[in-house]
Amino acid sequence: MNGAPTGQQLAAQNGETERSAKPQMKVPFLDLKAHHAPIIDEFDGAIREVIESSAFAGGPFVEKFEEEFAAFCGSSYAIGVGNGTDALWLTLLALGIGEGDEVITVPNTFIATAEAITYCKARPVFVDVDENTFTMNPAELKKSLTARTKAIIPVHLFGQPADMDPILEFARAHGLFVIEDAAQAHGAEYKGRKAGTMGDAGCFSFYPGKNLGAFGEAGAVVTNDPELREQIQVLRDHGQSRKYYHTLTGWNCRMDGIQAAVLSIKLRYLEEANLLRRKHALEYNRAFSGIDEVRTPFEASYAQHVYHVYAIRVQERDEILRHLQEKGVGCAVHYPIPIHLQEACRNLGYKAGAFPIAESLAEEFLSLPMFPELTTEQIEYVACCVSDAVGVGALA
Ligand SMILES: *Cc1c(COP(=O)(O)O)cnc(C)c1O
Repeated sequence: MNGAPTGQQLAAQNGETERSAKPQMKVPFLDLKAHHAPIIDEFDGAIREVIESSAFAGGPFVEKFEEEFAAFCGSSYAIGVGNGTDALWLTLLALGIGEGDEVITVPNTFIATAEAITYCKARPVFVDVDENTFTMNPAELKKSLTARTKAIIPVHLFGQPADMDPILEFARAHGLFVIEDAAQAHGAEYKGRKAGTMGDAGCFSFYPGKNLGAFGEAGAVVTNDPELREQIQVLRDHGQSRKYYHTLTGWNCRMDGIQAAVLSIKLRYLEEANLLRRKHALEYNRAFSGIDEVRTPFEASYAQHVYHVYAIRVQERDEILRHLQEKGVGCAVHYPIPIHLQEACRNLGYKAGAFPIAESLAEEFLSLPMFPELTTEQIEYVACCVSDAVGVGALA
């Protein structure tokens, strides 16, 4: 025996009465500390190297990571930038998208996808998503095509790739660019191809909480197109093709050396971490099987999902969320308001009801704790709390 406290002892510590037999646990939504702790010495060494070489902004550590990340994705090039929003914005700019153009994307995504379109003066046009995969429904594209449409940005939401083949086919037929928002899908696969490598470019975020996360802000674009690569390299560095020779108006969107050094280390553990996420997702699915009130995520037959987010669908989501928080379970909603109904997008003129699937997902989605170091006990506890909450009694 390992001397672990019994359920009753724990319940007593938490000041609970005896009728509540289940020990209260704390399950964070995300545990970056647990992820970093076993390899903290590697980070120390790598950061020291950057300090010793003073290669802080761009430079050799960024170039090394770019090569490694391109190889990981199976793409010719990666271009390191400041964050995922930069990756999207610079890609659109580099493809010549600007005033008067329209770019088709989905309403259930992080705001950055639409923001990047708006920020290069083009107009975001939304299409509804598939009700099973929550990603762009290719059958909806036709409706939104106009003479001004220049590009499509499918989002590989929660770590599951969008159905790329019909999207690519539609784009080819109408002369449109395809930019993949792969900010949540590092290492995910579509029919054996890595997310981010199927369109003209793939955009990644290395925000700390992403499947591959930096120690601050970072992002990258991957592409097989050498001209697009060069254009983005120039744009991210003040439009200079060599130092102080500025061929166009750019911006400062460089990746920094410490982030690149950290990412080179973390990239080596990404595949293993993604496999653990997949294992946890299966455990959750199993725990919820037979509970009709909980709809578990669907993995398409074409996909290797990497579960950046494990979101269930439930009615009365907000009450269940409150119950979980009371029970010490960290959870979140991705995302409570679809983009077309955000105040910032009011000028686009969309009304509630425009995208029924995206809108109902916004009401029903509940993201549960998901990170590689999650334990079976934690998963069982979370599943137990969810089952309690969807049962009539717990909500009273
Ligand atoms: C995180 C994210 C982004 C933006 O990345 P940042 O690094 O935070 O700028 C863009 N799109 C999606 C879908 C994301 O999840």
